[in-house]
Amino acid sequence: MGSFLVHGIILQHNNFREVDRLLTVYTEEMGKLQVIARGARKISSKMAGSLEPLLEVQMMFVHGRYNNTVTSVEVLNSWQPLKTDVDKVQFANYISMILDRSTRDQQRDGRIFHLYKGTLEAIEKQPFLSQQRSITIWFFVWQLLFYLGHQPELNNCLNCRIKIAAKKNFFTMSKGGVICSSCRSQSRGNVSISNNAIKILRLLISQPRDTLNNIIIGRSIMTELDGLTTSYLNYTQEGDFRINDFLLAV
Ligand SMILES: [Zn+2]
Repeated sequence: MGSFLVHGIILQHNNFREVDRLLTVYTEEMGKLQVIARGARKISSKMAGSLEPLLEVQMMFVHGRYNNTVTSVEVLNSWQPLKTDVDKVQFANYISMILDRSTRDQQRDGRIFHLYKGTLEAIEKQPFLSQQRSITIWFFVWQLLFYLGHQPELNNCLNCRIKIAAKKNFFTMSKGGVICSSCRSQSRGNVSISNNAIKILRLLISQPRDTLNNIIIGRSIMTELDGLTTSYLNYTQEGDFRINDFLLAV
């Protein structure tokens, strides 16, 4: 039985057995972890208030034969300004859900932890208009997919390798990137992609988060990228995310 100290953000919690809670935490040191907080649903529990979703915590746990069990927890950041806005909480929980469903337990990647934390910071700070909501989710998803090994090719046709020109092109889900119109029939799951969408994708993958904040993005490009982000996430993660519907609802 070993004892571990980790820094993480709680993605979700579920009731477990009579009085316990099962927590899913994304940690800097060990990736996603499941830990049990014994007695956390008793009124007398001292830990209960420190085990809510979105709390950033430092947590000690012991690794037993069947489970990890929390022994102490300290809240480092409760994201108070974010939590006073119901829409922001809903949005942050949606980001947590994408992260939870796209990662496996104990696959360490510190970059993903910092991407998640940076996303919560952006949600907390920004006035949350529709363009910012979309950019926040695009940035999170494309960076996450990059770290999970699904970096899309955006510069050369994935089939014939010619440099992608500013004309009609397609995004192929199966190969993960752009193909030219002559190669369209060489690949499955193609969707048409505009030149502006390709340019924004290149920025999302290679530039810091704030780069896109000063760009005005037209409605049709927004819709196109909401759709492409959803499709590529679902294709690579075998998911059924409905980012477009979610963005319309918040
Ligand atoms: Zn080609």
